[in-house]
Amino acid sequence: MSFQSPYLEKVYEKVQQRNAGESEFLQAVKEVLESIEPAVLANPAIEKNGIVERMVEPERFLVFRVSWVDDNGQVQVNRGFRVQFNSAIGPYKGGLRLHPSVNASIIKFLGFEQCFKNSLTGLPIGGGKGGSDFDPKGKSDMEIMRFCQSFMTELYRHIGPNVDVPAGDIGVGAREIGYLFGQYKRLSNSFENGVLTGKGLTYGGSLIRPQATGYGLLYFTDAMLQKAGDSLQGKTVVISGAGNVAIYAAEKAMELGAKVVTMSDSTGWIYDGEGIDLNAIKEIKEVRRARLTEYKNYRPNAEYHEGKGVWSVKCDVALPCATQNELNEDDAKALIANGVKAVAEGANMPSTLEATKLFVDNKILFGPAKAANAGGVAVSALEMSQNSMRLAWTREEVDSKLHDIMVNIFNNSYAASVQVGHEGNLVMGANIAGFNKIAEAMIAQGVAY
Ligand code: NDP
Repeated sequence: MSFQSPYLEKVYEKVQQRNAGESEFLQAVKEVLESIEPAVLANPAIEKNGIVERMVEPERFLVFRVSWVDDNGQVQVNRGFRVQFNSAIGPYKGGLRLHPSVNASIIKFLGFEQCFKNSLTGLPIGGGKGGSDFDPKGKSDMEIMRFCQSFMTELYRHIGPNVDVPAGDIGVGAREIGYLFGQYKRLSNSFENGVLTGKGLTYGGSLIRPQATGYGLLYFTDAMLQKAGDSLQGKTVVISGAGNVAIYAAEKAMELGAKVVTMSDSTGWIYDGEGIDLNAIKEIKEVRRARLTEYKNYRPNAEYHEGKGVWSVKCDVALPCATQNELNEDDAKALIANGVKAVAEGANMPSTLEATKLFVDNKILFGPAKAANAGGVAVSALEMSQNSMRLAWTREEVDSKLHDIMVNIFNNSYAASVQVGHEGNLVMGANIAGFNKIAEAMIAQGVAY
């Protein structure tokens, strides 16, 4: 690691000492610190006000026991987390992840990234994230409900519509948000539906929220291609994942004239040269919560492969939409050798640092997660606005606001990349645009002493 700025060098050393062994968190911090260097060197107030060392330290990090009773009457114990990372520009905002891999490092990396992403949306939301190492796979509906109730029994005292507003992420969709909200309402004895987003439509959810991250990803990809004089029309697209983000990314890609040929889940991947049948995927994944192995029952000519392999398929556009570090240096080399034109991240930090560098160095159009997948949290913020006004916007209103927000994020990130002399490097542009706004708010608000 070599920074030109001794200040950033010192901050990163301290982050490594304080968070030893937290590889995902250190990876996320390293990427941001490297790319904001020109902004830090240009503005001495950043160091004077200790902005970077404050930004890498969460304002609050909650860790708690979640005990619940399974269907056999056996008590189970999981660990719950909520990181309240930065509230300089608004209440903490960020999803909850339920997955066995969840630990402090993953929650902190997600919370850290969320601060910059939320800033980029232009909406008044700070950064947070949470979750648990609970594994929803194979659990009954009642087990999911009891887990969510126990999780909220601790979390409710730390959140609120003006304090911290959780939402969904891996393993958390409308069903889980419903159980979490029900318990919050019981405990607080008030109908404050602005406390959670991603709710069902009957109790304050927003139209387009389930589609928002995937649709937003495609609006962003389209903006990148258009700037380069191209479009999605006729393009071959590979997508990883088969969850919320992947499904609606595929839907919008098809609407915009592209052909989607792959999807994956945690056990394998499918290739359908005629174009993925999205109704089949929705039935398998959303309705029956089953495995992609079943896709062959719908499309006998499609291929199913165990393990990982989506990035070896020849394509024009690649959209990683499953999880962190799912696209490594070798995958990036394979995509580039196969002539990929654009890569946009639907998942959070799906590309390793080495893969990201290869895309940037080879001038592939590259949309980093903070910018490209911000559509979900943007519509969550629109859900908060509708809740506080006690009204509901139409599908067209929300979709058109989402579209404008994504195009603005692209334009602002692009403009920031030009300003620092790295035109088109959206990793730098997005990090700097997100960072500058938070830094300015933090300086304005001072420190307690
Ligand atoms: P879902 O739980 O709906 O889907 C996740 C998908 O990724 C599933 O197909 C799952 O497979 C697969 N997956 C998860 N973990 C792994 C793993 N360790 N290895 C391989 N495959 C895995 O989650 P979302 O679609 O909501 O989230 C996907 C990504 O998008 C995450 O990185 C999330 O942080 C990010 N994101 C989500 C937003 C949202 O609004 N939901 C907003 C912005 C970013 P299986 O079906 O087998 O479980």
